[in-house]
Amino acid sequence: MDSQNSVEGDDEPPLTKKDLNQHLILVSETKEAWVEDILNSITTPEEIAKTLNLNELELKEICRRYPARIPKYYLSLIKEKGDAVYKQCIPVIEEIKDKCGFEDPLKEEEGVLNGKVPIGITHRYPDRVLFLVSNQCAMYCRFCTRKRKVGDPLKQKKWSEIEEGIEYIKNHKEIRDVILSGGDPLMLVDEILERIIKRIREIPHIDIIRIGTRMPCTLPKRITPELCNMLKKYHPIYVNTHFNSPDEITPESSKACEMLVDAGIPVGCQTVLMKGVNDSVEVMKKLMQKLIKIRVKPYYIYQTDLVLGTNHFRTKVEKGLEIIKGIRGHTSGLCVPHFVIDAPGGGGKIPLLPEYIKEINKNKIIMKNYKDEKYEYIQTD
Ligand SMILES: *Cc1c(COP(=O)(O)O)cnc(C)c1O
Ligand code: SF4
Repeated sequence: MDSQNSVEGDDEPPLTKKDLNQHLILVSETKEAWVEDILNSITTPEEIAKTLNLNELELKEICRRYPARIPKYYLSLIKEKGDAVYKQCIPVIEEIKDKCGFEDPLKEEEGVLNGKVPIGITHRYPDRVLFLVSNQCAMYCRFCTRKRKVGDPLKQKKWSEIEEGIEYIKNHKEIRDVILSGGDPLMLVDEILERIIKRIREIPHIDIIRIGTRMPCTLPKRITPELCNMLKKYHPIYVNTHFNSPDEITPESSKACEMLVDAGIPVGCQTVLMKGVNDSVEVMKKLMQKLIKIRVKPYYIYQTDLVLGTNHFRTKVEKGLEIIKGIRGHTSGLCVPHFVIDAPGGGGKIPLLPEYIKEINKNKIIMKNYKDEKYEYIQTD
């Protein structure tokens, strides 16, 4: 082994930088069983066309621009053509006909372009950073905000970039919350993920580490006892997962979430509001109630970002307001997430609420409750 090029942790066997880079690109030699499922997932236009009886030429054109990957597990959740599960994973021609939107509407790359932060870091809020550690996912969701780069082999993470990210976090004492995201951080094998988490946990000013992953939903097998045992050594760890349809809550995905919670990890859910997937009070209420049953706390509902190639999913903002109004008060408060727009141009997440205040002055507030009945509350000096 070339010792100059080796990276050593305290009690870990040294790995060369080359090994680490190879681990970042999935290695088929790993013992972890879920990797087999990634390798067996459906990725080529030919396979998709054959499996679902679709136009192969059209699929080829779409996949040349935006890659596809669908785990067999997720594919098995499709009940009929065009349902909520189908729409999230099967490429459609609208993606490449789209004229509206931007490649990077949230300006996530801005700090990188200005040379202020390393590749993979978005430092938008004062005390927390988004840290992209993988650009691969078990599934390439058709509505993805990072469609511009997920699954692109040229944008594959290098270990040196991850080191630079950790170094940045170490040098910025104001950061107390690190959000590992991607792509999907759980596309890294446990050993590599642990190297990253351990290094971040060693930084004294870091309070919490969050992991954003869609694996509990798209490939629940990834949540193994070994992963949970590893993560719980580095508490406080939070996981934010991502379900969009009640049809995604299955015995398998429920078990994955419950294993994480049993390891002491609070699990939240981010949901994207999408036309034909979940754009009704009824479907969203059912989703939120099902999440609570598997101990997952609904955290955000996102208005779809203005991402090129995803406009066929876009609803009016009023739809999101109607959904919040239809859930709040009508079911457990635990089921109610924040409805937000991630402001185009990089303004961060802005919460939107239906109008509950009718009038407010120094003497009183007049409000509406969930049934649209008026109530007054007196204010004094
Ligand atoms: C969403 C996001 C966060 C985390 O926001 P919270 O509201 O704390 O969950 C942090 N940084 C960036 C760039 C984000 O997009
Ligand atoms: S799992 Fe997340 S990052 Fe990956 S394609 Fe889906 S939405 Fe995008």
